[in-house]
Amino acid sequence: MNLQTDVCIVGGGPAGALLGYLLAEKGIETIVVERTSGTEREFRGEHINAETEAILKEHHLFDKIEALGLLKMKKVEYIYGSHIVKTITPTQDDHVGIHIPQPHFLTAVSNEAARFPNYRLLLNTSVTGLVQDENGNFSGVRAKQHGQEINISSSIVVGTDGRFSTVRKLAGISATEETHGYDVLWAKIPAPADWEPSTKMVLANGHQLALFTQTGGMIQIGWNIEKGTFNTLRKQSLEVFLQPLLTSFPELETIVRQHIQSWKNFVCLNVFSSNADTWAENGLVIIGDAAHTMTPTAAIGINCAIKDAHVLAPILEQALLDGDISKSRLKEFEIGRRTEIEQQQEMQFQKEESFKDNFLEVVGR
Ligand SMILES: Cc1cc2nc3c(=O)[nH]c(=O)nc-3n(C[C@H](O)[C@H](O)[C@H](O)COP(=O)(O)OP(=O)(O)OC[C@H]3O[C@@H](n4cnc5c(N)ncnc54)[C@H](O)[C@@H]3O)c2cc1C
Repeated sequence: MNLQTDVCIVGGGPAGALLGYLLAEKGIETIVVERTSGTEREFRGEHINAETEAILKEHHLFDKIEALGLLKMKKVEYIYGSHIVKTITPTQDDHVGIHIPQPHFLTAVSNEAARFPNYRLLLNTSVTGLVQDENGNFSGVRAKQHGQEINISSSIVVGTDGRFSTVRKLAGISATEETHGYDVLWAKIPAPADWEPSTKMVLANGHQLALFTQTGGMIQIGWNIEKGTFNTLRKQSLEVFLQPLLTSFPELETIVRQHIQSWKNFVCLNVFSSNADTWAENGLVIIGDAAHTMTPTAAIGINCAIKDAHVLAPILEQALLDGDISKSRLKEFEIGRRTEIEQQQEMQFQKEESFKDNFLEVVGR
């Protein structure tokens, strides 16, 4: 099958879905290519901040997502043992973060985009190759859908295909990767009926243990563990590993024992951050985790990806109107975003290093 479009977006995560909608709304021919069926994506960040809330409201998407379900966090607590060391409550907003299940975000945004005849979403379709014209400019992608080859010609290719970006690799763009000394073990349990929507940060055995209340009455739990130690850890006692959680939250004991019965109930996230050497080539841009992978710290990855799409859309619109899709023109996006992203990556390092300082009052130096 051969298709033609103005912009081909590779990856229908938060960055790709929003960009697809924003371009389609402007009347630009847009194809979003997503390798999953759209509903069984791997677990990703789901907490948005007030800036992202404002972006979604500006594009009239927030109420559509809210109609599907979201949850506003009422406080952030820092806990040591059974002692609440510090509580942060909302100042200007009515929340300290909002949980949006990614299926709700992606469904609402792609439903809105689907209203435009110039928008097309190809699910179960993996991009396997990039196409370049005789001058070396990127001019489309090759993809596979249920074994069938699809060739998509496009004026611009946007890589929004996440932390292991195929587009970035195929375009020959290298990235500087940094490990942060830890990985995260994730598990999910139902929340007790009276559990207030909150983020709870515990200092447990010198590491961060975080509990995020989720829409639909669940709690997502993330244990920071020393990098690369999951295989060793899983040979040890699960009971001992769970003890700090149960000490801080004895009210969760029954639920934890029902839902975390073996190491198989955990998903291990290989934590790293990365920054690509360039975010633009002739006819190609990479954004979101594909350009700059964030760690889970401070839950900003999805927010950065959404802001990237928000910033890039008008730049692409004007570039297409001007007929200039050169690297230097598309670099406008990178020039506008790189400094802030690098500051946020630096902030993630600082927060990781200073996490224990939140507990000085009870732990000392
Ligand atoms: C386990 C985990 C927990 C996290 N927790 C948080 C958090 O609490 N808060 C937060 O803000 N951030 C968090 N992050 C980071 C956040 O999820 C990412 O920064 C964000 O999802 C980036 O969005 P994206 O659209 O750039 O990429 P992704 O969300 O990774 O989306 C990329 C999409 O591209 C598709 N794709 C990949 N390759 C291809 C291909 N070849 N062809 C077609 N499609 C392809 C994938 O299926 C996927 O749908 C977390 C990340 C992980 C991994």
